[in-house]
Amino acid sequence: MGPKVWGKEFMHVKARKQRGCTIIQMWSKDICNHFWYCCKTADTYEDFFDRWAGLLHHVTGEHVWALGACQHGPLVEDREKEWIQKGSVAHQRLTEVVLDARWLKSVHKYLHFRSTAELESFHNHILMYASKHFCFSPPMYAARVMLAGLDYNHNVDRPAKRRADGSIQYDKVHNKKSRKWSLYTLKVEKDYSYIVDLESAILRRRLSVTGGLPRTARKRPDNTLQHGVLSGVPAPSTQELLQSQLSRGLGKSLPKN
Ligand SMILES: [Zn+2]
Repeated sequence: MGPKVWGKEFMHVKARKQRGCTIIQMWSKDICNHFWYCCKTADTYEDFFDRWAGLLHHVTGEHVWALGACQHGPLVEDREKEWIQKGSVAHQRLTEVVLDARWLKSVHKYLHFRSTAELESFHNHILMYASKHFCFSPPMYAARVMLAGLDYNHNVDRPAKRRADGSIQYDKVHNKKSRKWSLYTLKVEKDYSYIVDLESAILRRRLSVTGGLPRTARKRPDNTLQHGVLSGVPAPSTQELLQSQLSRGLGKSLPKN
């Protein structure tokens, strides 16, 4: 059984199979999140197991027990979700699944799980400077990535944007996959004050070298721009395409004169 085990599908199937277990459906998303939380925060299997098994207490509304306690903060009083009764069919069934010895043997594979969200966000940031829709020569690409890095480092720890009354500003985002809306914190506007330093450094460097700029740009042998758009397939001649291609919609041939 893989990580999918803790996805909605599995818990639904398991829950549907047995009377009195529909309540597990309400908890499946939280159980899935808790599994990944345990993997992310635990350094050893024992550590993982303590946190993971604590789930069986939490779902019953018990947050402190003989050998441990939940690590969450205070819970909201008027919660919609029902607790699962200790000793009920649903709780017994959940205990079997959570403590399944065969499955627990494979858990060590997931203990190295770490979220790559920040790395993905950094890669998206680089794409703003060096979009994949254009081709760049190697020095140009390197310069763009360095500019992206300077911008990122300069702005990564921006504080949250606040209204005049001091409250934090949020915006909503819709996730197509989970079909849910969620909030994210808006940050204060970016600050590009480092550009001025960069410009003066460029100017100083320019002033200190002897000789002027070349009048004509030399084409470097490693310049990828000379290859044009890279499709991976050589383009047929215009005449060949004119013979075979039909216009979209009406299916007529392209005008030849
Ligand atoms: Zn708890």
